[in-house]
Amino acid sequence: MRRFPVLAGALLALTLLPAWPAHAAGPDGTRKVEVFDQDAPKGYVDVPVSDGPRSRSLAPPSATVTPIEVNGPSDKRIDLVYLGDGFTEGEMAAYTAQVANSWNILAQREPFKSYRKLFNVWQVNVVSNESGSDNDPEPGVRKDTALGGEYYCEGLARLICVDVDAAYAYAGLAPGFDQIAVVVNSSTYGGAGYTEEELVTFSGGHPSGPEILPHELGHSLGDLADEYPYWAYPDDGSTYTGDEPVERNTSTYDAARQTAQRNKWWRWLGAETPDGGVIGTFEGAAYYNLGIYRPSDNSLMRSLVKPFNLVGREEMTRKFYETTGLVDDATPSSAPVRAGGTLSVTPVPVPTVSTRWLVNGHEIAEWAGRTSVEVFDRKPKMSHGQAEQPWCGRKDLKVKVKGERTCVYTAVVADSTDFVRDPAYQDGPLSTSITWTVTGAKF
Ligand SMILES: [Zn+2]
Repeated sequence: MRRFPVLAGALLALTLLPAWPAHAAGPDGTRKVEVFDQDAPKGYVDVPVSDGPRSRSLAPPSATVTPIEVNGPSDKRIDLVYLGDGFTEGEMAAYTAQVANSWNILAQREPFKSYRKLFNVWQVNVVSNESGSDNDPEPGVRKDTALGGEYYCEGLARLICVDVDAAYAYAGLAPGFDQIAVVVNSSTYGGAGYTEEELVTFSGGHPSGPEILPHELGHSLGDLADEYPYWAYPDDGSTYTGDEPVERNTSTYDAARQTAQRNKWWRWLGAETPDGGVIGTFEGAAYYNLGIYRPSDNSLMRSLVKPFNLVGREEMTRKFYETTGLVDDATPSSAPVRAGGTLSVTPVPVPTVSTRWLVNGHEIAEWAGRTSVEVFDRKPKMSHGQAEQPWCGRKDLKVKVKGERTCVYTAVVADSTDFVRDPAYQDGPLSTSITWTVTGAKF
């Protein structure tokens, strides 16, 4: 879970709750919300905060929290928190089933599938006074729900807005949250992606509703750009003329230029991608038709239900680790370490993660894959014919710095996944070293 500043001021009544992200409106008093069609995102609208839905049940949040999947401490995991809106006390079983369905859809898709163990999933059992949602199935319908969910937000039939402040207050009941997913009790297709708030809404009773969540996580967890070319406001123009975008999955450079300059997704060019075809430079992305490229023809960042392309998958993987790290625990935790003990690491439980060990900078091949090693304080006893075990006094491992013998043990924990090709990622977020300085060895 990331740490956020506490939002002060407007929500004084809720300040006793755990800290929640600063999700206040921008200077113009609006929130940018992504709109989705049944098969594709459509663009963004600005929802004025003052016009947004307000929950009519203003009681302070109170709800039980069901752990759906807990894989580690919240500060070392990505916490996904589900909230329900428009589910009454008698509809909690339906809510639970729709949460399970959504998480299942997510966990079947890469890279969530391979990195499932980096996630915690919580279900906050938000109970509403009435069943359903405002303006559903038609405009004018009013329902008293905990999060104030409404279709026809900003006049768009498929756009479901909620009371963002109420959502954050409920999400704060979970042990941690990085992403909030609001399941709206309806079988009418709809949803929304709040770009700054890391909050997604979708209709849990429609088969396509939960498909909005993986796309939105591409933005919130992967910092990915949209790969669709059209814009909700045609006046915005269709030829991109701006600078090279910071997002890794859009570029003003074509394949030849990427290769020549070794930038953007040049390492993936020509590789077969899970969303179909091979990675190239396809014109049209980031709401423009021309002047800007995307890595594949039709990935999840362009159409719902599709897989991420190789470029998006690499970014997601990197960003996962930037949130979680690679090591859940390492002991002993304080330096220096006396000889004679055991050093151990607990890597995150991902199959492609492994540990290597070094003594005084020399890799100990026979220790590869071990999660703990013994530190000898003197030459280890050997039976006849047995090779001397690694320790700081062994002839090939002895190191002197400025006349002083040193004894340094290092565990290198790294993910060797083929989802990532960029060496800066492999040596950066996908790798970490823990070093122990050992004292008291007799050599
Ligand atoms: Zn999007």
